[in-house]
Amino acid sequence: MSSTLDFEITLTERPTPAADREAILADPGWGMHFTDHMITIRYQEGKGWYDARLEPYGPIPMDPASQVLHYSQELFEGLKAYRQADGSIVTFRPYANAARMNRSAQRMAMPQIPEQLFVDALELLVGTDKDWVPGKEGQSLYLRPFMFATTRALGVNRPADEFLFMVIASPSGLYYPRGIKPVSVWLSQDYVRAAPGGTGEAKTGGNYAASFAGQAEAVANGCDQVVWLDAHEHRWVEEVGSMNLIFVYGEGSSARLLTPALNGALLAGITRDSMLKLAPDLGIPVEEGKISIEEWQEGCESGAISEVFGCGTAAIISPVGRAKGTDREWTIGTGEPGPVSMRLREELIGIQYGTKPDPYGWVHKIV
Ligand SMILES: *Cc1c(COP(=O)(O)O)cnc(C)c1O
Repeated sequence: MSSTLDFEITLTERPTPAADREAILADPGWGMHFTDHMITIRYQEGKGWYDARLEPYGPIPMDPASQVLHYSQELFEGLKAYRQADGSIVTFRPYANAARMNRSAQRMAMPQIPEQLFVDALELLVGTDKDWVPGKEGQSLYLRPFMFATTRALGVNRPADEFLFMVIASPSGLYYPRGIKPVSVWLSQDYVRAAPGGTGEAKTGGNYAASFAGQAEAVANGCDQVVWLDAHEHRWVEEVGSMNLIFVYGEGSSARLLTPALNGALLAGITRDSMLKLAPDLGIPVEEGKISIEEWQEGCESGAISEVFGCGTAAIISPVGRAKGTDREWTIGTGEPGPVSMRLREELIGIQYGTKPDPYGWVHKIV
């Protein structure tokens, strides 16, 4: 491992007994169980990154005046480790996550982390806790790198100069344990997730805090997830929940994809980017553009739009079956998962689990 820092390694004295771990891995759910270890790396202005550790998973002592607790200066990433068909363990495009974390850091006035240090931290944690990478269909070890301001000061005129970077890992099961079911979505007119010039492009917890009221409104209106519209006109479609949106026009050999362009308010998903590269190689042209809710509804009613899906690391692809707003409601396609969505999903999952070739070099072997 060619690290920019040497990690001090302290293994837990109380590892989870194998039988308990196997019981968790049999049905891990999502984001509820954590492996035996975690990574911590500290940063101080002038000193840079230091004190890299692999430690037993556990609570972290924090000063109540830590800036993150008051001003939300934090960011995170999300990616998965997969157990492949031949037994090796891989992650998917980890350098893309490292680069995105640094773009988020730029927006959030936080320090850049060397991409290799980021990937080394993932490799060390996954390598140490490799028995926690589940092996059944659709299972994976979800990796959560994150960083936050630990500077002890309430004054906002002094920028934070101390940060903690961490990685924790959580075994995760099939996102759709009972088969893929299209979600219904609520077009939020009251709440906005992000505006150009704001933090929508950064993967920061504050965007999520700002989205919970909209998500609750979606549920109150009988929908699964919320569709975020643009901040100015509340008309142009941006994202769904915490996923990017892709529209399928046409069918069969004439199918093509349209996805909202990255306009400064959207989060640049790595799954979205992978779809944009994968689809043309499968003969499905892609376009980044704009689509309004009126165009979406008319496209579904005329049959021009055949499928719509959300995409992100957690679910890979989440078909959208119904859309609803205060004054409108419509069905997308047949209301069932469509063939283009399912084909793209199969291809990407095949690369991740090693059952299909990886011409893009996306898979990064750990052990
Ligand atoms: C993380 C995230 C996505 C999906 O990104 P992936 O890299 O594909 O997992 C999309 N939208 C938002 C708001 C996100 O936070």
